[in-house]
Amino acid sequence: MPTACPLCGLRSRAGDLCPGCLSDLVPGVPGAGRCLHCAVALDSAGPGGRQRPTRCEACAASRARGRSYDRTIAVIDYTYPGDMLISALKERGRLDVAALLGRLIAQAVRTPVAGLPPLGAIVPVPSSPASLRRRGFNPAGEIARAVSRGTGVPLRRGWLACVRSDASQKTLGRRARWRAPVGNYEARVAVPAVWVGLVDDVMTTGSTLHFAATALRAAGAAGVVALVAARTPARLWHNVGHVRRDPGPA
Ligand SMILES: [Zn+2]
Ligand SMILES: [Zn+2]
Repeated sequence: MPTACPLCGLRSRAGDLCPGCLSDLVPGVPGAGRCLHCAVALDSAGPGGRQRPTRCEACAASRARGRSYDRTIAVIDYTYPGDMLISALKERGRLDVAALLGRLIAQAVRTPVAGLPPLGAIVPVPSSPASLRRRGFNPAGEIARAVSRGTGVPLRRGWLACVRSDASQKTLGRRARWRAPVGNYEARVAVPAVWVGLVDDVMTTGSTLHFAATALRAAGAAGVVALVAARTPARLWHNVGHVRRDPGPA
């Protein structure tokens, strides 16, 4: 069925990106050029033409260990123009974009190159009650539904609940921002010892996914793979858990 590409409006198929936008935004090999652990985009070449690293500097350093998610899959960067897909979903309620992002994540999960453990459940990061009231839907939940459909892994919306709303993270300092989601998430069931695919729309500091994954593991999950639509590049975030060198004047 011909549709309009949600990004550029050119002709596309069945709600997908047009071939041009797809090749601009999503690499042919899922996970290529991203850190294995946190999926942040890696520099295109190591210093002195060394072989590309598989982990970012922060994850290779000891301070980034101890995250509750074991791996992260991200399909696009949270930068222009991919960020327009996220705002179409979150600000304009374009649920077709959630389906598109979910299909892209499912495709990456199914690729053997990703080397993921077999997932037993897909769980969305729940919206806070305030966001749910404002938006009327949970963007992560809509993406998760499409991930479940595209992978055949059952969707378990009821496993995790958001029991507390935090203040807007944007106004907080780095440490406070990292700690803001503490106590937000609670598992509502005894989770079986399976690997869980934990879905969110955007990953920036990773703290939301960390604390949501902590709740799943405490309830019995064997492990957690973070499945995110968009990843904020390292140069755009500052967080206490990830050390990075100041890139200096660009
Ligand atoms: Zn397009
Ligand atoms: Zn990393």
